[in-house]
Amino acid sequence: MNLDNGCSASGARKSLSVDDARRIILDALSPVSGWERVAIRSALGRILSDDVIAPCNVPAHDNSAMDGYAVRAEDLSADTESKLQVVGTAFAGRGFSGIVGKGQAVRIMTGGVMPMGADTIVVQEVARPEGDQVIVPGGVRRGQNVRRAGEDLAAGAVALPRGKRMGPAELGLVASLGIAEVSVMRRLRVAFFSTGDELASIGRPLAPGEVYDSNRYTLHGALTRLGCDLLDMGVIPDRPEALEAAFREAASASDVVLTTGGVSVGEADFIRELMGRLGEVSFWKIDIKPGRPMAFGRIGTTWMFGLPGNPVAVMVTYYQFVMDALLKIAGLDPLPERPLVPVACTTSIRKLSGRREYLRGRIFAEDGIWKVRSASAQGSGILRSMSEANCFIVLNEGRGDVMPGDIVDVQLFDGLI
Ligand code: AMP
Ligand code: MG
Repeated sequence: MNLDNGCSASGARKSLSVDDARRIILDALSPVSGWERVAIRSALGRILSDDVIAPCNVPAHDNSAMDGYAVRAEDLSADTESKLQVVGTAFAGRGFSGIVGKGQAVRIMTGGVMPMGADTIVVQEVARPEGDQVIVPGGVRRGQNVRRAGEDLAAGAVALPRGKRMGPAELGLVASLGIAEVSVMRRLRVAFFSTGDELASIGRPLAPGEVYDSNRYTLHGALTRLGCDLLDMGVIPDRPEALEAAFREAASASDVVLTTGGVSVGEADFIRELMGRLGEVSFWKIDIKPGRPMAFGRIGTTWMFGLPGNPVAVMVTYYQFVMDALLKIAGLDPLPERPLVPVACTTSIRKLSGRREYLRGRIFAEDGIWKVRSASAQGSGILRSMSEANCFIVLNEGRGDVMPGDIVDVQLFDGLI
């Protein structure tokens, strides 16, 4: 495995762009093997390990797309009205068993199976019933308002490809094929722990200088949303033996290990040395704010991400690097697009060139136009502004200060988180 692309080891000094770091990480990873069969309801959020093949046509029969009359186009005049004899009805689920003959029509409802002999639906809004007859205007096109058998999906076609994540539409689609179970990739096992002598777990009062560990809760939320099986290993003090034992245990029990803290100046060399001794590691300074230091590597077949300690930096690095990495390991293919939407910014922002910044922002509508403002508190420990935000404002490396009215790119949390 070449994790560093010439950017690590010496990489303690060099720094890497966000795009390069993402590329190195994603290129190094491959999906786990292992799958299981689950009932469609339980497949929500899971990733297909096999193509789902349509066993039948959808729809199964030619049917009407509208309420109206099933007719034979050849009986209709191109430019004058035609009068047809109504010989029966076809409801959804209860068809007309006869054959529509010359000069005849069948009253039909949406979803009703096309009666034999008929080829066209005249919508009821333009048809004029008169006793047991119906008057149809000229100009009706042959085949109009007919849904063809197999139009949505032909029998034997790939209905959903492997690598697809099952959402509500996919659950419904699978059900529409009469399929009760699908094969999905097994869940990823993710172990995580927080590092820091200053960290206290909730449930006891804080001693002077201590802070409550919040990162494990943020990660618990993010990883649960992703559908991972979690191994929460608690808080590990900044002691070499304790950290080494934790890394070993985590690696033996999981596909991916996430840690937070211990990668800032002073602590970094130690974590790098430890991770390097147990496996392979690249330690990077990334041109990103927040979240500059980050470690990536593996112990045996288990991937490791050493995230920064600051709570907001954890979230930014998780969403910009780790989440798509986990999705790739879990078998998602292709990875989702992460659209950047340009909107006018109403606040001014100081921005150093040379690094990419992810600011907490809030998009809002003003006089029907969507705009964004940056949160006032951007400190990388301030989770409250993360909670108030609904998007990241993404300022690229080359970008300088932002003035009110300037266009900025935003990455919406909806669809991301
Ligand atoms: P570190 O990267 O270990 O130097 O941590 C950077 C900052 O983040 C320090 O102020 C830590 O106290 C804080 N921090 C680290 N881990 C956590 C955590 N799990 N929960 C809350 N704050 C943390
Ligand atoms: Mg620390």
